[in-house]
Amino acid sequence: MADDIILETQGLTKEFSGFFAVRDVNLRVKRGHIHALIGPNGAGKTTCFNLLTKFLQPSAGKILYKGQDISAMAPADVARLGLVRSFQISAVFPHLTALENVRVALQRQHGHSFDFWRSKSVLDRFNHRARELLDDVGLSEFSDTPAVEMPYGRKRALEIATTLALDPEMMLLDEPMAGMGHEDIDKIAALIKRISAKYTILMVEHNLSVVANLSDIITVLTRGQVLAEGHYNDLTQDDRVKEAYLGA
Ligand code: ADP
Repeated sequence: MADDIILETQGLTKEFSGFFAVRDVNLRVKRGHIHALIGPNGAGKTTCFNLLTKFLQPSAGKILYKGQDISAMAPADVARLGLVRSFQISAVFPHLTALENVRVALQRQHGHSFDFWRSKSVLDRFNHRARELLDDVGLSEFSDTPAVEMPYGRKRALEIATTLALDPEMMLLDEPMAGMGHEDIDKIAALIKRISAKYTILMVEHNLSVVANLSDIITVLTRGQVLAEGHYNDLTQDDRVKEAYLGA
Protein backbone atom coordinates (compact mmCIF):
# COMPACT_ATOMS: atom_id res chain seq x y z
CA MET A 1 0.00 0.00 0.00
CA ALA A 2 1.46 3.34 -1.05
CA ASP A 3 2.49 5.62 1.83
CA ASP A 4 0.14 8.37 0.79
CA ILE A 5 -2.89 6.07 1.02
CA ILE A 6 -4.31 6.04 4.55
CA LEU A 7 -7.38 3.88 3.89
CA GLU A 8 -7.95 1.29 1.23
CA THR A 9 -10.68 -1.24 0.58
CA GLN A 10 -10.14 -4.27 -1.61
CA GLY A 11 -13.20 -5.98 -3.01
CA LEU A 12 -15.33 -4.75 -0.13
CA THR A 13 -18.68 -6.51 -0.25
CA LYS A 14 -21.77 -6.68 1.97
CA GLU A 15 -24.58 -9.03 1.18
CA PHE A 16 -27.92 -9.08 2.98
CA SER A 17 -29.69 -12.38 2.21
CA GLY A 18 -28.64 -12.45 -1.42
CA PHE A 19 -28.89 -8.67 -1.96
CA PHE A 20 -25.58 -6.87 -2.48
CA ALA A 21 -25.74 -3.51 -0.70
CA VAL A 22 -22.01 -3.04 -1.39
CA ARG A 23 -20.25 -5.05 -4.06
CA ASP A 24 -16.56 -5.27 -4.82
CA VAL A 25 -15.74 -1.71 -3.82
CA ASN A 26 -12.11 -0.64 -4.14
CA LEU A 27 -11.62 2.69 -2.43
CA ARG A 28 -8.33 4.49 -1.92
CA VAL A 29 -8.29 7.50 0.35
CA LYS A 30 -5.21 9.70 0.25
CA ARG A 31 -3.75 11.07 3.47
CA GLY A 32 -4.77 14.72 3.96
CA HIS A 33 -7.57 14.63 1.40
CA ILE A 34 -11.23 15.47 1.77
CA HIS A 35 -12.75 12.51 -0.06
CA ALA A 36 -16.49 12.48 -0.71
CA LEU A 37 -18.68 9.46 -1.20
CA ILE A 38 -21.82 10.33 -3.12
CA GLY A 39 -24.60 8.50 -4.90
CA PRO A 40 -28.38 8.30 -5.13
CA ASN A 41 -30.47 6.87 -2.30
CA GLY A 42 -29.85 3.18 -1.79
CA ALA A 43 -26.41 3.35 -3.46
CA GLY A 44 -24.69 1.76 -0.47
CA LYS A 45 -23.02 4.80 1.11
CA THR A 46 -24.25 4.16 4.65
CA THR A 47 -23.46 0.47 4.40
CA CYS A 48 -19.96 1.39 3.24
CA PHE A 49 -19.53 3.70 6.24
CA ASN A 50 -20.78 1.03 8.60
CA LEU A 51 -18.31 -1.43 7.12
CA LEU A 52 -15.41 1.00 7.45
CA THR A 53 -16.11 1.67 11.12
CA LYS A 54 -16.85 -2.02 11.71
CA PHE A 55 -20.46 -1.51 12.78
CA LEU A 56 -21.06 -4.11 10.07
CA GLN A 57 -18.85 -7.04 9.17
CA PRO A 58 -17.99 -7.38 5.46
CA SER A 59 -19.23 -10.47 3.62
CA ALA A 60 -16.04 -10.38 1.56
CA GLY A 61 -13.06 -8.13 0.92
CA LYS A 62 -10.54 -6.29 3.03
CA ILE A 63 -10.20 -2.93 4.72
CA LEU A 64 -6.67 -1.65 5.22
CA TYR A 65 -6.04 1.33 7.49
CA LYS A 66 -2.46 2.58 7.47
CA GLY A 67 -1.51 -0.75 5.93
CA GLN A 68 -3.13 -2.77 8.72
CA ASP A 69 -5.98 -5.14 7.95
CA ILE A 70 -8.86 -3.95 10.15
CA SER A 71 -11.51 -6.14 8.48
CA ALA A 72 -12.04 -8.29 11.57
CA MET A 73 -11.52 -5.62 14.25
CA ALA A 74 -14.07 -4.35 16.75
CA PRO A 75 -15.30 -0.73 16.34
CA ALA A 76 -13.57 0.47 19.52
CA ASP A 77 -10.23 -0.93 18.35
CA VAL A 78 -10.59 0.78 14.98
CA ALA A 79 -11.33 4.07 16.75
CA ARG A 80 -8.27 3.56 18.92
CA LEU A 81 -6.14 3.32 15.77
CA GLY A 82 -7.36 6.80 14.84
CA LEU A 83 -10.16 6.06 12.37
CA VAL A 84 -13.15 7.73 13.95
CA ARG A 85 -16.70 8.34 12.88
CA SER A 86 -18.50 11.50 13.91
CA PHE A 87 -21.36 10.70 16.19
CA GLN A 88 -24.82 11.94 15.57
CA ILE A 89 -26.20 14.73 17.71
CA SER A 90 -28.04 12.16 19.77
CA ALA A 91 -24.64 11.28 21.25
CA VAL A 92 -24.26 14.80 22.65
CA PHE A 93 -25.56 15.11 26.23
CA PRO A 94 -28.27 17.79 25.93
CA HIS A 95 -28.09 19.14 29.46
CA LEU A 96 -24.33 19.37 29.69
CA THR A 97 -22.63 22.51 28.44
CA ALA A 98 -20.48 22.47 25.31
CA LEU A 99 -17.36 22.45 27.49
CA GLU A 100 -18.66 19.59 29.64
CA ASN A 101 -19.60 17.55 26.58
CA VAL A 102 -16.10 17.82 25.13
CA ARG A 103 -14.55 17.15 28.53
CA VAL A 104 -16.61 13.99 28.95
CA ALA A 105 -15.43 12.80 25.52
CA LEU A 106 -11.82 13.51 26.49
CA GLN A 107 -12.20 11.77 29.85
CA ARG A 108 -13.69 8.73 28.18
CA GLN A 109 -10.89 8.68 25.63
CA HIS A 110 -8.43 8.61 28.51
CA GLY A 111 -10.25 5.88 30.37
CA HIS A 112 -11.84 8.02 33.06
CA SER A 113 -15.47 7.63 33.94
CA PHE A 114 -17.88 10.51 33.60
CA ASP A 115 -17.85 11.32 37.34
CA PHE A 116 -14.09 11.52 37.59
CA TRP A 117 -13.78 14.63 39.69
CA ARG A 118 -11.12 13.59 42.15
CA SER A 119 -8.03 15.41 41.02
CA LYS A 120 -8.25 19.11 40.27
CA SER A 121 -5.06 19.06 38.22
CA VAL A 122 -6.46 16.30 35.98
CA LEU A 123 -9.73 18.16 35.61
CA ASP A 124 -7.86 21.38 34.77
CA ARG A 125 -5.91 19.53 32.09
CA PHE A 126 -9.10 18.17 30.52
CA ASN A 127 -10.77 21.57 30.73
CA HIS A 128 -7.80 23.20 29.06
CA ARG A 129 -7.84 20.70 26.16
CA ALA A 130 -11.63 20.94 25.90
CA ARG A 131 -11.36 24.73 25.53
CA GLU A 132 -8.75 24.30 22.81
CA LEU A 133 -11.03 21.93 20.90
CA LEU A 134 -14.01 24.26 21.26
CA ASP A 135 -11.82 27.04 19.95
CA ASP A 136 -10.76 24.83 16.99
CA VAL A 137 -14.39 24.40 15.95
CA GLY A 138 -15.32 28.05 16.62
CA LEU A 139 -17.49 27.37 19.67
CA SER A 140 -15.66 29.29 22.40
CA GLU A 141 -18.59 31.59 22.99
CA PHE A 142 -20.82 28.56 23.65
CA SER A 143 -18.55 26.98 26.31
CA ASP A 144 -21.06 27.43 29.09
CA THR A 145 -24.20 26.91 27.02
CA PRO A 146 -26.09 23.65 27.53
CA ALA A 147 -26.12 21.70 24.27
CA VAL A 148 -29.92 21.71 24.23
CA GLU A 149 -29.90 25.51 23.94
CA MET A 150 -27.44 25.64 21.05
CA PRO A 151 -28.60 26.29 17.48
CA TYR A 152 -28.66 23.17 15.29
CA GLY A 153 -25.58 24.03 13.23
CA ARG A 154 -23.57 24.76 16.35
CA LYS A 155 -24.58 21.38 17.77
CA ARG A 156 -23.12 19.72 14.70
CA ALA A 157 -19.89 21.64 15.35
CA LEU A 158 -20.00 20.36 18.94
CA GLU A 159 -20.44 16.84 17.63
CA ILE A 160 -17.27 17.36 15.55
CA ALA A 161 -15.43 18.69 18.63
CA THR A 162 -16.37 15.56 20.63
CA THR A 163 -15.06 13.48 17.71
CA LEU A 164 -11.78 15.43 17.69
CA ALA A 165 -11.49 14.62 21.40
CA LEU A 166 -10.91 11.01 20.33
CA ASP A 167 -7.63 12.15 18.79
CA PRO A 168 -8.31 10.85 15.27
CA GLU A 169 -6.06 10.79 12.23
CA MET A 170 -8.94 10.17 9.91
CA MET A 171 -12.58 11.21 10.33
CA LEU A 172 -15.66 9.77 8.71
CA LEU A 173 -18.40 12.38 8.49
CA ASP A 174 -21.88 11.11 7.78
CA GLU A 175 -23.92 13.86 6.09
CA PRO A 176 -22.41 16.73 8.08
CA MET A 177 -24.77 19.24 6.43
CA ALA A 178 -27.99 17.27 6.91
CA GLY A 179 -30.93 19.45 7.94
CA MET A 180 -29.02 22.73 7.81
CA GLY A 181 -29.80 26.14 6.38
CA HIS A 182 -27.37 28.11 4.17
CA GLU A 183 -25.64 29.96 6.96
CA ASP A 184 -24.90 26.82 8.98
CA ILE A 185 -23.80 24.98 5.85
CA ASP A 186 -21.23 27.69 5.16
CA LYS A 187 -19.95 27.55 8.73
CA ILE A 188 -19.64 23.76 8.84
CA ALA A 189 -18.02 23.74 5.38
CA ALA A 190 -15.45 26.26 6.61
CA LEU A 191 -14.92 24.13 9.71
CA ILE A 192 -14.38 20.96 7.69
CA LYS A 193 -11.92 22.81 5.46
CA ARG A 194 -10.06 24.06 8.54
CA ILE A 195 -9.81 20.69 10.27
CA SER A 196 -8.80 19.00 7.03
CA ALA A 197 -5.39 20.64 7.44
CA LYS A 198 -4.80 18.15 10.27
CA TYR A 199 -7.06 15.20 9.49
CA THR A 200 -7.98 13.06 6.51
CA ILE A 201 -11.72 13.21 5.91
CA LEU A 202 -14.09 10.82 4.19
CA MET A 203 -17.62 12.15 4.05
CA VAL A 204 -20.99 11.11 2.75
CA GLU A 205 -22.87 14.22 1.73
CA HIS A 206 -25.99 14.86 -0.33
CA ASN A 207 -25.41 18.56 -0.88
CA LEU A 208 -23.51 18.54 -4.15
CA SER A 209 -22.43 22.17 -4.06
CA VAL A 210 -20.78 21.47 -0.70
CA VAL A 211 -19.16 18.38 -2.17
CA ALA A 212 -17.97 20.41 -5.17
CA ASN A 213 -16.43 23.10 -2.99
CA LEU A 214 -14.80 20.91 -0.39
CA SER A 215 -13.68 17.67 -1.95
CA ASP A 216 -10.29 16.84 -3.35
CA ILE A 217 -11.77 13.71 -4.88
CA ILE A 218 -15.22 12.18 -5.21
CA THR A 219 -16.28 8.54 -5.50
CA VAL A 220 -19.73 7.93 -6.99
CA LEU A 221 -21.54 4.80 -5.86
CA THR A 222 -24.61 3.31 -7.51
CA ARG A 223 -26.24 0.01 -6.70
CA GLY A 224 -23.44 -0.85 -4.29
CA GLN A 225 -20.66 -0.37 -6.84
CA VAL A 226 -18.20 2.35 -7.77
CA LEU A 227 -19.54 4.05 -10.88
CA ALA A 228 -16.93 6.77 -11.25
CA GLU A 229 -14.25 8.64 -9.40
CA GLY A 230 -12.69 12.01 -9.99
CA HIS A 231 -12.94 15.74 -9.52
CA TYR A 232 -16.34 17.37 -9.49
CA ASN A 233 -15.97 19.10 -12.84
CA ASP A 234 -14.98 15.86 -14.55
CA LEU A 235 -17.83 13.95 -12.97
CA THR A 236 -20.43 16.46 -14.09
CA GLN A 237 -19.33 15.75 -17.68
CA ASP A 238 -19.71 11.98 -17.17
CA ASP A 239 -22.87 10.67 -18.80
CA ARG A 240 -23.04 7.62 -16.52
CA VAL A 241 -23.02 9.89 -13.46
CA LYS A 242 -25.71 12.14 -14.93
CA GLU A 243 -27.82 9.12 -15.70
CA ALA A 244 -27.42 7.67 -12.21
CA TYR A 245 -28.55 10.93 -10.65
CA LEU A 246 -31.23 11.97 -13.07
CA GLY A 247 -32.32 8.58 -14.29
CA ALA A 248 -31.95 10.05 -17.79
P1 ADP B 1 -27.41 4.83 0.93
O1 ADP B 1 -26.77 5.18 2.22
O2 ADP B 1 -26.53 5.09 -0.25
O3 ADP B 1 -28.77 5.45 0.74
P2 ADP B 1 -27.64 2.18 2.08
O4 ADP B 1 -26.24 1.75 2.33
O5 ADP B 1 -28.42 2.68 3.23
O6 ADP B 1 -27.65 3.24 0.89
O7 ADP B 1 -28.45 0.97 1.44
C1 ADP B 1 -28.03 0.29 0.28
C2 ADP B 1 -29.02 -0.80 -0.03
O8 ADP B 1 -28.88 -1.84 0.93
C3 ADP B 1 -30.48 -0.35 0.03
O9 ADP B 1 -31.17 -0.98 -1.01
C4 ADP B 1 -30.93 -0.84 1.37
O10 ADP B 1 -32.32 -1.13 1.36
C5 ADP B 1 -30.11 -2.11 1.56
N1 ADP B 1 -29.84 -2.40 2.97
C6 ADP B 1 -29.16 -1.61 3.83
N2 ADP B 1 -29.10 -2.19 5.05
C7 ADP B 1 -29.76 -3.38 4.94
C8 ADP B 1 -30.06 -4.45 5.85
N3 ADP B 1 -29.64 -4.40 7.13
N4 ADP B 1 -30.76 -5.50 5.38
C9 ADP B 1 -31.16 -5.55 4.08
N5 ADP B 1 -30.92 -4.58 3.18
C10 ADP B 1 -30.24 -3.51 3.59
